[in-house]
Amino acid sequence: MIASHDLLDQRHRPLHDLRISVTDRCNFRCTYCMPLDHYDWIEKREILTYEEIERLVRLSIPLGVQKVRLTGGEPLLRRDLDKLIQRLSQLEGLDELCLTTNGVLLGPDAEQLRHSGLRRVNVSLDTLDPDKFERITKKPNLPKVLEGLRAAQQAGLDPVKVNMVVERGVNDDEIVAMAQFCSEHGFALRYIEFMDVGNANAWNLDRVVTKKEILATLGSHFDLQPAGRHRSSDPATRFQVRGGGPDLGVIASVTEPFCDNCSRARITADGKFVTCLFSQDGTDLKRPLRDRTTDEDLGALLRLIWTGRTDAFSEDRLRAILSDHGYQPQDRHKIEMITLGG
Ligand code: SAM
Ligand code: SF4
Ligand code: SF4
Repeated sequence: MIASHDLLDQRHRPLHDLRISVTDRCNFRCTYCMPLDHYDWIEKREILTYEEIERLVRLSIPLGVQKVRLTGGEPLLRRDLDKLIQRLSQLEGLDELCLTTNGVLLGPDAEQLRHSGLRRVNVSLDTLDPDKFERITKKPNLPKVLEGLRAAQQAGLDPVKVNMVVERGVNDDEIVAMAQFCSEHGFALRYIEFMDVGNANAWNLDRVVTKKEILATLGSHFDLQPAGRHRSSDPATRFQVRGGGPDLGVIASVTEPFCDNCSRARITADGKFVTCLFSQDGTDLKRPLRDRTTDEDLGALLRLIWTGRTDAFSEDRLRAILSDHGYQPQDRHKIEMITLGG
């Protein structure tokens, strides 16, 4: 819902969500996200400190931000993440604080994260087959991720949500199995259409398993009932299983863009403010943060960026896909997902 004090962009969209990448480093090399062996990692001194992140969040709350998601890269690789969570969880006006992780380090960390103020977590898990897991992530870590999921639940994080990127010929044969797994264990599940994030995942339309296809597959095993979006700006449309079952949702960025209600901004690990997942660049906030810019001026800069925002990349992509020329992802050099924060 839009409040009277909300800052609106050029398409009357409020700024309600901040996704903050706390590091660009990752212990996986998922084929759909970060398949590169070599990458120009952000230097340590360029990474925002926890004080700087907290300041940005504090200044964003009066502009409308209600929800913060910590992401990366792999956020649990950042040392003492619980300390950041503790700081953010004490900020007045912030309703939700979430984490998206690949789950490998969640086993040992879950209890401490919960203790620090984290309430919910999303864990990426694309397959239940150990060999396939290793093919996708380049790491033999399925048991650790499953352990992480269990630990998150035992620590009282609720909901524990599984994110599954569905790619044709890779894991589309596990759409039902993943729902059954999540049902058995009490996890929510979000299927994500494979997107052309970054520049290295060799995306093409043929590899996208569409929302329609995902629902058709699920529909042959479950009696599904549409449950809409939790909030109008949520990326996932939800489905309930009649007679009980997992909380299911599909994020259909490619075939059913939701730019119209997109209230998300991202902050990269080195402090760029980015207004779309498919942006080619962002606005540097690190320099003003470190140049002793006042809160007032920093707030004014954030206002200026958001009120000028026109992004609707997924709508443009769908138009191009449907046009005679088709869509060529390589025509646009985007910020990599690990830098940007998914
Ligand atoms: N490393 C953490 C993880 O994997 O959960 C957090 C960062 S990751 C970039 C955030 C989310 O983006 C994950 O759920 C991941 O599956 C998703 N993602 C990455 N590449 C994607 C792609 N090409 N299409 C759809 N989702 C993608
Ligand atoms: Fe995989 Fe997340 Fe790492 Fe990307 S950031 S390679 S999705 S674990
Ligand atoms: Fe938001 Fe950009 Fe995704 Fe559209 S493409 S929903 S504007 S992040």
